[in-house]
Amino acid sequence: MTDCIFCKIVAGEIPSAKVYEDDKVYAFLDTSQATEGHTLLVPKVHVENLMEYDESLAADVFSRLPKISRAILAANPEAKGINVLNNNGEVAYQTVFHSHIHIIPRYSKEEGFA
Ligand code: ADP
Repeated sequence: MTDCIFCKIVAGEIPSAKVYEDDKVYAFLDTSQATEGHTLLVPKVHVENLMEYDESLAADVFSRLPKISRAILAANPEAKGINVLNNNGEVAYQTVFHSHIHIIPRYSKEEGFA
């Protein structure tokens, strides 16, 4: 999709801080950094949200979550846990309409919930 900011990031037309890439997915740091290391995992193919996934795409995206989560924890050794968050639809607070999974490292319960 030509007017999609995450398609442009996947294509390298907009800069991003790459965390992981393979033939199916791309992961990069979220500019908002709810906590240090906050990462977005996106399918390379443009789909708006989870409701547009077929089983194959679901496997492509969700099978990458464990190793990317482990890598984020390894890169941020003070982090002791991870929240995985996925907003689908405007009423569910989705603001960028290229499906993405938030991977948010957690350092302490005191930091609050983003
Ligand atoms: P919300 O804004 O409620 O978190 P989403 O779940 O749709 O809604 O998340 C979109 C995320 O994309 C936001 O966390 C935002 O900071 C991030 N974002 C927007 N533009 C960029 C960008 N160019 N590079 C990295 N992250 C981005």
